[in-house]
Amino acid sequence: MLFSQIIGQDDVKKKLIQSVRDNRVAHAQLFLGPEGSGSLALAIAYAQYICCTNKGENDSCGVCPSCKKYNSLTHPDLHFVFPNATTKNVKKDPESDFFLSEWREFVGSTDAYGGLQDWYKVLEIENKQGMINVRDAAAIIRKLNLKSYESEYKIAIIWMAEKLNPAAANKLLKLLEEPPEKTVFLLIAENQEELLATVRSRTLLMKVPKLPIEDIHSALMNKFGCDSNAAHNAALISDGNWMLASRYLIDSEDEKFYFNSFQKWMRYCFRFSAPELIDFIANDIKPLIREKQKEFLAYGLKVFHNALLYNNGLRNNVLLPDDELAFLNNFAPFVSNNNIGLITELFEESMRQIERNGNASLIFMDDSYKIFNYFKMK
Ligand SMILES: [Zn+2]
Repeated sequence: MLFSQIIGQDDVKKKLIQSVRDNRVAHAQLFLGPEGSGSLALAIAYAQYICCTNKGENDSCGVCPSCKKYNSLTHPDLHFVFPNATTKNVKKDPESDFFLSEWREFVGSTDAYGGLQDWYKVLEIENKQGMINVRDAAAIIRKLNLKSYESEYKIAIIWMAEKLNPAAANKLLKLLEEPPEKTVFLLIAENQEELLATVRSRTLLMKVPKLPIEDIHSALMNKFGCDSNAAHNAALISDGNWMLASRYLIDSEDEKFYFNSFQKWMRYCFRFSAPELIDFIANDIKPLIREKQKEFLAYGLKVFHNALLYNNGLRNNVLLPDDELAFLNNFAPFVSNNNIGLITELFEESMRQIERNGNASLIFMDDSYKIFNYFKMK
């Protein structure tokens, strides 16, 4: 992770880089910032910069042997500790080291911006509380007491330090106070209040502020090539959380695609135009993965239900962007109590068939013919 890959946070980057250049890297530091602000990304970039053997004035080189290992998070002198719990594969006595490949994938796929719930999703433990336990503390103590393998520095990154349980924290305290030579602890936390005071008092605080809207706005445009308006909306809703902003943008792009496709589909169904339908299914539906085909049907069903509300004097309950509302205004007269039951049944059955690996072309063609007939029942 290079500093240049991290969104905004110029002040924090400057301070971190300066500390390395001045040769005064504190041995225990706490990166405190809200979810999605980039604390973990900054800590990794900082560690990489400390260890880079050919560092520039403002960033790591990215290509020296140390940087290469940092890029894949496999440097032997870089250690991670993070909340964990028993999972399908690890039935008892879990510890961070058992989940390193999942961890690398999580960090890689989220550019180190993922939150605790994203991580739990990777571990498939959404209903549990992860924890950093005493086995994690013991492992880190063991590793840091070894001689470093390749770097001058050994670095331990403890992500979500508020999840250190008291026994683990107590075990670490002495190490935080008197660490072995050339050892750096980078603790990352979101809530200062949840952090044990004894841990907090032994670390140098580096505050990572919430990302400003403008930074997220331009980062979204750079990464996704979206238009300024879409980026602005996503940035506004995200409240400084990069993960939320990018997820919101992707969802709203899907939604736009579904809306355009659904309009087309319904137009072709009205006149049951076989060539147009075949073309539509081949170009708009077949390329989607199954999950998205189901999502598209769910989107369609929502439009039908909105149409019914619209017809029954509940227009204020239908909150939609202007273009979708204009479509609904024309579409609603074709939906009524006579056909909504059949349409609901049809869409739900189609979703089940897609789930069971049914042939999407056949399913959508069959649906089209039925919808054509249901429209006549208005
Ligand atoms: Zn390097």
